[in-house]
Amino acid sequence: MTPRVALVTGGGRGIGRAVAERLAREGHTVVVAARSAAEVQTVAEVICSAGGRADARTLDITDPALADRAAQEIRRAHGGLDILVNSAGMSYIAPVPLADPARWREVLDTNLLGAFIISRAVVRGMIGAHWGRIVHISSIAARLGAPYNAIYAASKAGVEALVRSLALEVARAGVTVNAVAPGYVRTRLFDYTQGERAKVKGVPLERHVEDLITEMPTRRLVEGAEVAAAVAYLVSEEAGSVTGQVLNVDGGRTAG
Ligand code: NDP
Repeated sequence: MTPRVALVTGGGRGIGRAVAERLAREGHTVVVAARSAAEVQTVAEVICSAGGRADARTLDITDPALADRAAQEIRRAHGGLDILVNSAGMSYIAPVPLADPARWREVLDTNLLGAFIISRAVVRGMIGAHWGRIVHISSIAARLGAPYNAIYAASKAGVEALVRSLALEVARAGVTVNAVAPGYVRTRLFDYTQGERAKVKGVPLERHVEDLITEMPTRRLVEGAEVAAAVAYLVSEEAGSVTGQVLNVDGGRTAG
């Protein structure tokens, strides 16, 4: 396997952290990025102390100038930028009639516009190098209705449309663009999202989580490491003919 240089946004915790650690174990140099300096620093240190190669960098993917500068600086520091895994994301729970426009714009800016901004920042160099892998973390909410999380669901459906369109633009240049759509993974985002849903239902969070597990054909939540394994496949050499796709890692939740 050829060692590559990977940028993992949202790499400071949750699914992004699992992806960063997995790609480092595969031998890639990983740039761990998010807005919180302390979290990305910790992840980079954990990777380096396990013998991997990692750098931490603060990055807000909603800012095109910062994204462009990050891509340039990573290329300069590491000699390339071959892989983008975009796991930065947020949700906002509110019934549609009560939803605050400032909050739903923030979700769209982060999840959808941010996916566009960071893809744009990295893809030109990938086209020039005739090799690249872009993976966005979508969600089962792109396909299933997500009550009280409508703008999140819409943003993720947008990400999947972006993936298909960009994949067609860059396929001839040896760049693949895909999404992984996880089911429920226990992270900070999960605890916020499901905590708010539990309040709407009027039940404790853990009771609501039990209900979610009952909905899962596998009768358990998804592990971050399982999402990371799917990402590792999509960014591998042998996935060169897989592009414009959404790989669901959801315990069969969207199969029925
Ligand atoms: P976490 O809250 O654990 O992690 C989110 C990460 O995104 C953090 O590192 C956060 O860091 C970063 N982030 C948020 N906004 C920005 C921004 N503007 N620029 C850069 N980084 C940002 O959530 P998860 O790990 O659960 O979520 C990761 C992805 O997986 C998201 O896209 C989410 O929608 C998706 N997903 C999660 C599921 C789940 O059940 N957990 C299910 C389906 C999809 P910081 O705040 O420091 O910037």
